[in-house]
Amino acid sequence: MTSYEYSAPAAACQTAYAPDTVLVETGRPDRIDGASVNPPIDLSSTFISSGDIESSPFAYARFDTPAWAPFEEALAELEHAGLPGLVFGSGLAAISAAISLVPAGGTLVVPTHSYQGALASAGQLAKRQGFDLVTVDIADTEAVVAALDEAAPKTTATNGPAEANGSAASAGERGHDRAAGMLWIESPTNPMLEVADVPALIAAAKDRGFLAAVDNTFATPLLQTPLDLGADLVVHSVTKYLAGHSDVVLGAALTGNSELRERMHTERSMRGSVAGPFEVWLALRGLRTLAVRLDRAQTNARTIAERLASHPAVVETRYPGLPDDPGHARASAQMNGFGAIIAFTVDTADRATAIAEAVKLWTPATSLGGVESLIERRRRHAEEPQTVPVGLIRLSVGIENVDDLWTDLEAALD
Ligand SMILES: *Cc1c(COP(=O)(O)O)cnc(C)c1O
Repeated sequence: MTSYEYSAPAAACQTAYAPDTVLVETGRPDRIDGASVNPPIDLSSTFISSGDIESSPFAYARFDTPAWAPFEEALAELEHAGLPGLVFGSGLAAISAAISLVPAGGTLVVPTHSYQGALASAGQLAKRQGFDLVTVDIADTEAVVAALDEAAPKTTATNGPAEANGSAASAGERGHDRAAGMLWIESPTNPMLEVADVPALIAAAKDRGFLAAVDNTFATPLLQTPLDLGADLVVHSVTKYLAGHSDVVLGAALTGNSELRERMHTERSMRGSVAGPFEVWLALRGLRTLAVRLDRAQTNARTIAERLASHPAVVETRYPGLPDDPGHARASAQMNGFGAIIAFTVDTADRATAIAEAVKLWTPATSLGGVESLIERRRRHAEEPQTVPVGLIRLSVGIENVDDLWTDLEAALD
C-alpha cells in the first residue's frame, strides 16, 4: 500500500487534504513573515488572565496550554473528531479517563485480549466505580452482542422502558449518565492480532444504549477512523506509532461529543494526568513522518509474516495481511492496510525466550510502533492473559532493511 485513501471527508474536517498531507501540513503557526515553521515549545505553567478566568483562552497549564493545541488539532483532523483531541500523560491515562465514563451499576464489556494495562485498569476502576466488567472474544461478534444483551436490561430498567429496547437516542447523544455502560473495542488486538467487526460492534453497542470506545493504537488513523463508523470515542497510546521513535510516553482521546469531551477534560484536570510540553512537541514531530514510517513498516511486516508462515519452527502466524489469516477478510473490508505487528507462536516458552535472546538486530523489548524492530515473548509479563500461548512472540516490525531483519530472525529461529 503506497497511499492512504481519504475516506468520507467529515463535515468537521478543516481541509480537504488527504491524511498523509494533513500529517505534514497541520498544527503549524500562522503564515506570517518571520514566523517559525514549527510551533514553539511553550513551557509556561500559567498564562496572563485578568478578570474572569473562564473567559481566558489559557489560564493554568493543568487545564489547557498552547503546548498541547497543535497536536490536539492534528489528531482531531486525522480522526475526524470535529472537536480538539485531549492529550494525556500516557495511553493508559487516556484509557482510564475514558473508563471513568462508565456509570455505577453499568457494564464495561472488554476484549479478553485487550492491552493488559487496560484490562488491569478496568478491573480496578470496576471495583471503585461500582460497574460490572465482562470480558469477551472481540472477534466473535455474536458473543459480544450476547454480552451486551445480557448487560443491557439491568441498567436500562431504571431509565424507563423506552430506552430498554434501544429506541431512544444513542448513549453518546444522551450523555454518559444514562448509558448502559461501554463497549471497549481493540482491533487488531494486542497481542493476539484478532480483528473485530468494528462497524457491526459499534452499531450493536449504540443500539443497546452503550457507549462505543475504540483503542486505535495498532491501526492508527491512517488505517481506520472509528469515529466515522459511529464510535463515541477513540483512544491512542501516542507512545507507539504516532510519536514513532520510542522516546516519548503519551496518550490521547478523541470524541465528537462535546459532553463526553468535557467530562474527560475534567477527568484529566482533576486527576492531573497531563502531558509535558516537550513530549507533545516530540510527538508532533514524530507524527509528521507517520505515513512513510507506517508504509515501510507494513511492507516489511507482510514479507516477514509470509516467511514466518512457511518456517518449520513456527506453529502459527497471526498477521491480518496474510490471505488465510482469520481476520483477513474483515481487515480488508474495514482497514486501509494491515499494520506492522505480527504474532507468531513456537512450541514452548523456552524456545520463544531463546529466540528473543538470540536476535542481534531486533531489539528484545516491550512496546511497539517505533522505527526500530522489537521482539517480545508476551507471557513473560505475569499480568498477560493466560489464554495467550506461552510460546507467543510479538513482533513490532520497524523500517530497517527487510532482508537484514529476516536474516537475523531466521538465524534465531534455527
Ligand atoms: C501501549 C498500549 C497502551 C498503553 O499506552 P501507554 O502509552 O503505554 O500508557 C494502550 N493500548 C495499546 C493497544 C497499547 O499498545
